[in-house]
Amino acid sequence: MRIFFLLILNLYSFLIFGYQAKPYDFPKPVDTTSKPINTPDREVKELRGVSFDNSFDGARINGLSVADTSFIIRMMPENEPINYSPWYAFKLWSKKDTVVHIVMDYSKFKYGQRYWPKLSNDGVNWTRLDESNFSYIGDSLRVRLTLSLSDQPLWVSAQEIQNSEMVSVWAQEIAAIGGAQFKAIGKTTLGRDIPMLEYVAGKKKPTIIVLSRQHPPEVTGYLAMKSFLERIFEVEDELSLEFLKNYNVLVFPLMNPDGVDLGHWRHNADGVDLNRDWAYYNQPETRQVADYIVNFAEEKKSDIVLGLDFHSTFKDIYYTNVDSLVSALPEFTSAWITNIKLRVEDSEAKVSASGIGPPVSKTWFYTQFNAVGITYEIGDDTPRDLINVKGEVSAEEMMKLLLNK
Ligand SMILES: [Zn+2]
Repeated sequence: MRIFFLLILNLYSFLIFGYQAKPYDFPKPVDTTSKPINTPDREVKELRGVSFDNSFDGARINGLSVADTSFIIRMMPENEPINYSPWYAFKLWSKKDTVVHIVMDYSKFKYGQRYWPKLSNDGVNWTRLDESNFSYIGDSLRVRLTLSLSDQPLWVSAQEIQNSEMVSVWAQEIAAIGGAQFKAIGKTTLGRDIPMLEYVAGKKKPTIIVLSRQHPPEVTGYLAMKSFLERIFEVEDELSLEFLKNYNVLVFPLMNPDGVDLGHWRHNADGVDLNRDWAYYNQPETRQVADYIVNFAEEKKSDIVLGLDFHSTFKDIYYTNVDSLVSALPEFTSAWITNIKLRVEDSEAKVSASGIGPPVSKTWFYTQFNAVGITYEIGDDTPRDLINVKGEVSAEEMMKLLLNK
């Protein structure tokens, strides 16, 4: 009788909710229940004739003030504890041409600056701030930028801005080229769309999953993901055509749209690190993405064979699963990384294997699907042309291996 009741209950919840991702007790659990965050005012503030704009998506200025001849910005995360990745982005201008000093104050933390300032006149094309206009102050927990202003806005940002609107424009373009569908699979806490690209080769064909931007400032990983996908969807190309005949591709290019648009250091609008929420899916982003993938696999009777999650850290590194977690493709990881390294001069790239620990996507792919999971990390300062080449080569070598070429 009890079994009968459970069967009815399961059938009911399937009809209402579809298939859901299974919870999994990771050995190093993390509390991912929602927590309060602070959000700086979205405003344009004028101080001594200089306007500071914190109103656009991706912007973040905390505690703007003036002291002597400098403007001070105090670096503050959305909440704590948090990994050290102090993001900032703002626009500024002055009615008359002038030179200003901006002090970025990191003194609340024992680390100083992480992201070298980037400048732009249009929010699209970026250059690194010249070293002659940068200096450390005292204990290096404060840095000074010297900027020439006019009445035209100057963007200053920790990394190139890639906010939710920019990601959506790119994703729609690449979907149109590649014959994929661009759609929103649901909403975040603040009502933003969670975007995805879905390419279906067919039922019973295997599927690869691509994730990016669980962590908002990790733009270099996102840039690698872009060139990786642009190579896969190069539909004039024989290798791509063959791959797209044989594999489904699900891409979640912006896992954390609220965090990205709010200029967060790491968390979503509920103050949680999404890449620790793959055990019980407390957050709307992980819940909906995980369920979508599980539903897709069930409905298409497809094996999820590979999950790649693009991130950024100090250096290029591949975080992999240890060999004892035997996956759908036991030879793939080492062959892939070796082949990439043979073609890309990138001696920095390290490989670090680990077992099942905290609830991260890399091991979720294994625990849920027996799939290969890899966290693909790009260094914060890796040259952008190298990132592009690496993304493309990584796509080619993956396609070759998955097609047994
Ligand atoms: Zn990350």
